Amino acid sequence: MKRDETICAISTPPGEAGIGIVRISGESSYPILKAVFRPKRRVRHFKSHRFYLGNIVDPTTKKIIDEVMVVYMRAPKTYTREDIVEIHSHGGYFIQQKILSLIIDQGARLAEPGEFTKRAFLNGRIDLLQAESVLALIQSESEKELECALAQLDGKLSKKISQIKDLIKNALALVEAEIDFPEEDVDVNPKEIIGILKEADRNISYLLDSYSAGRMIKEGHLVLIVGRTNVGKSSLLNEIVLKERAIVTPLPGTTRDLIEDVIRVNGIKVRIVDTAGIRDPRDVVEKEGIERVRKKIPEADLILWVIDGSQRITEEDLRIYGEIKDREVIGVVNKIDLEQRIDLNFFKEKDIPFVRTCALTGEGVEELKNLIYDRLHSKSPKKERLVITSLRHKNALEKARECIKKALTGIEDGVPEEFTAFELREALNTIGEILGEVFNDEILEEIFSRFCIGK
Ligand code: GDP
Repeated sequence: MKRDETICAISTPPGEAGIGIVRISGESSYPILKAVFRPKRRVRHFKSHRFYLGNIVDPTTKKIIDEVMVVYMRAPKTYTREDIVEIHSHGGYFIQQKILSLIIDQGARLAEPGEFTKRAFLNGRIDLLQAESVLALIQSESEKELECALAQLDGKLSKKISQIKDLIKNALALVEAEIDFPEEDVDVNPKEIIGILKEADRNISYLLDSYSAGRMIKEGHLVLIVGRTNVGKSSLLNEIVLKERAIVTPLPGTTRDLIEDVIRVNGIKVRIVDTAGIRDPRDVVEKEGIERVRKKIPEADLILWVIDGSQRITEEDLRIYGEIKDREVIGVVNKIDLEQRIDLNFFKEKDIPFVRTCALTGEGVEELKNLIYDRLHSKSPKKERLVITSLRHKNALEKARECIKKALTGIEDGVPEEFTAFELREALNTIGEILGEVFNDEILEEIFSRFCIGK
């Protein structure tokens, strides 16, 4: 990627819209603006960070393409730290393509996915972790995800990681002093080094502990709906999700696959999964489905155990309960519109929270959602808690922790200082990779290829 090239892209989604934005970044942004834009009022020099009304005009044919607003932002106070021009045109596919091709005719080239953000990183405006959080921000699907991404973007997590890095650096400096001046009686107390490294280790562990919560925020809490066939699981899922995804049918045993929906319950992202009834399978396909449910049970954050209120609790209900009783369960007594034969004392005696619902009318479903929220909310990290959400960061932190552990054992065993120094340098490198102080093309490709063009 040549950074002296000027890049351009349509930064808004394709299709018809009120407005659409074409963005240009690089040294030629300003001359390109001068070439294709004719302001309504004569302007000699466009001021930075100010909007101008005018027309985009094809410099060759002199034909007007669209009436637009433009803003020129002079480097370095811009997203990429380069000169940027944004053209806010009418949001039509044809118009925007036309404007883009005029800009390309003037010497810019089409940006690669995420290239604007990549430039912000390469030009030192943000670190790599912050660049990744831009993507997380765009892809956020819940309050919590947004909160995490924002905390990462404004540098809170980067700061924490820098602190860890400083600790390792301090320890390394002490170790190196011993290596470099062995005769000079540099009085380095190994206890001091050990103390610093243990603190670094604690900080890394604190972040690593947040990963499962971070993943839960990103991927959603897993909620399983289980229960024997025909009690109303699919109808209930539909009612919760309010869209017809699961196939509802009066024939027993038809929900053979796991049907998953992602919903938000009061700002918490939930992956809700309907399952085939756990019962003696009639055929191979069903058997496979049931096995899949069994595998999911230990992964679930919460299980909704649905039973038919119009019948007494059956042997099969109890067998299903046997499979889930060690997990967090909410009992859902469905079909309350019919005459009730169920004995609710079962739930009270076993201290299982339960809700009574009618999947046909939606009665009780709001209460169920609130109960789901209460149970999951307590598992979500508090707002102030720094959370890591990226596998890349987790792997790097684990590797750094491993090096620190080796260094600590080495010091305690009295191995030569060179060995300790080597491990600490490894740890520093790995931590540096998170922030992008150390990077290679593959890491960048891996990260930025997930962005859309124009970001
Ligand atoms: P699943 O096999 O547990 O997924 O059950 P379904 O959702 O396919 O429902 C089985 C049958 O029960 C369907 O005919 C539904 O219309 C019916 N059903 C579901 N919920 C209720 C309810 O609350 N009341 C009544 N009367 N029927 C229900």
